[in-house]
Amino acid sequence: MSDCLFCKIIAGDIPADKIYEDDDVLAFHDIGAQAPHHFLVIPKKHIATLNDVDDAALVGKLTLTATNIAKELGFSDDGYRVVMNCNEQGGQTVYHIHLHCLGGRQLSWPPG
Ligand code: 5GP
Ligand code: ZN
Repeated sequence: MSDCLFCKIIAGDIPADKIYEDDDVLAFHDIGAQAPHHFLVIPKKHIATLNDVDDAALVGKLTLTATNIAKELGFSDDGYRVVMNCNEQGGQTVYHIHLHCLGGRQLSWPPG
């Protein structure tokens, strides 16, 4: 999608601090980090919201990519959170699905 921010990052038209990339997914640091570790994992295929997902394997791959990175960056044993925001009341601001992974500090619950 030509007007999608994350599609532009995938295409290399907008720079990002990339962590991992393969044929299906891209992981990069969030520009507005809310924790010492905060990265996003996105599918290379444009999917606007979680409501549009019909590929269980792809969502599983987003999750496993995040956990593998958390292990590699060394904060998996301390703990972390993965979250996907959906639509307005879920707090979604970029309409290309993305999994947030946050760690490196004590996270509170419930979220705001
Ligand atoms: P959402 O609110 O849609 O769940 O999350 C969107 C996330 O994308 C936010 O955490 C925001 O900081 C991040 N973000 C927005 N624009 C950019 C950008 O240009 N580069 C990077 N790396 N992250 C971005
Ligand atoms: Zn997109």
